[in-house]
Amino acid sequence: MKGYFGDFGGQFVPELLMPPLLEVEKAMEEILPTREFQDELNDLLRNYAGRETPLTHCPTLSQELGFNLWLKREDLLHTGAHKVNNTLGQGLLAKRMGKTTLIAETGAGQHGVATAATAARLGLNCVIYMGAEDVARQSSNVRRMRLLGAEVHSVASGTATLKDAINETLRAWISSHETTHYCFGTAAGPHPFPTLVRIFQSVIGKETKAAMYEKKNRLPDAVVACVGGGSNAIGMFHPFINEEGVRIIGVEAAGTGEPGCYSSASITTGRPGVLHGCHSMLLQDKTGQIEPSHSISAGLDYPGVGPEHAWLNKTGRAEYHKIKDADALAALQKLCRAEGILPALESSHALAWVLQNPGSFAKGSDVVVNLSGRGDKDMDIINNALEEN
Ligand SMILES: *Cc1c(COP(=O)(O)O)cnc(C)c1O
Repeated sequence: MKGYFGDFGGQFVPELLMPPLLEVEKAMEEILPTREFQDELNDLLRNYAGRETPLTHCPTLSQELGFNLWLKREDLLHTGAHKVNNTLGQGLLAKRMGKTTLIAETGAGQHGVATAATAARLGLNCVIYMGAEDVARQSSNVRRMRLLGAEVHSVASGTATLKDAINETLRAWISSHETTHYCFGTAAGPHPFPTLVRIFQSVIGKETKAAMYEKKNRLPDAVVACVGGGSNAIGMFHPFINEEGVRIIGVEAAGTGEPGCYSSASITTGRPGVLHGCHSMLLQDKTGQIEPSHSISAGLDYPGVGPEHAWLNKTGRAEYHKIKDADALAALQKLCRAEGILPALESSHALAWVLQNPGSFAKGSDVVVNLSGRGDKDMDIINNALEEN
């Protein structure tokens, strides 16, 4: 069924949200495939965002691990992470739909910054909704968004974090969709967002495939990515789903790992349910109330996950694991010292799983970790965490 991945996905939304969702779906079918759209997007990706990104071999870690570790360098993109692949795609689509304003949610602020930059570049207005907790925690990203011309609204309802910001943005969209597009930040939410975001992020996996062929004339043995809402991961995974020999590995955030701690591991520890218009795996208590999520990496801090991941997990095509805060931090330090690359704390979860499970990969194999973002934004958190130890 349209908008479903097996039994996950769908459009569990109030009736008033259906007209804007249908309008996006129509634009996806009629505008997105056109030559003009594709040419303009490719030009922006190349000359504004900095694509294509390199596939970097890690000589020191490869020697130690006994197989080839490669990094897909989304950290080198404009605004510091993969988010801009999606915001440029949706921003351009919105512009061609005749919209004048982008609205978006943000948690850590990375998606807000990418959306604000995109809006500025495309001559659109920008309004960002952010939980009051996050506004306080991520003040430098709030300043970046404002500098880029965005209006930032602080959302005080609920736990005043990402899930509440999404609710508020969906509400705002209902009353403003004539002129606004909701630039959803990850491969979750109601149909068509999981598919739309995946289409724009799949450039990651496509480039990885081409680069691997160019370097080794073969496919990688495994692709690995961190999973928050799931956009960088599905972008890496999707072009490999039909390549049976390629192992697909998603890594969630386990939080501190102490008994009873909150995590962001919706697939590995959650249960099926509905959140933000989408049937997927969720962190919820016995009565079905959404549980607070936690991770040292703010970008993974979401109690749900995209429906396509829930399905890839259920069918067994992809495997999902989780990594604790401290182990992600150790992997980050290791990559800095060994290869001279400071990864985002989010991406460090994917790297940590590979570093902890070298026996899981054959000698001489090629393993690609998606480096979804750079770690400069995490310096305060890294400093605090290292001081505590
Ligand atoms: C936002 C973010 C993530 C998590 O989002 P996904 O939709 O799961 O990709 C991961 N890494 C970085 C660097 C981010 O900014």
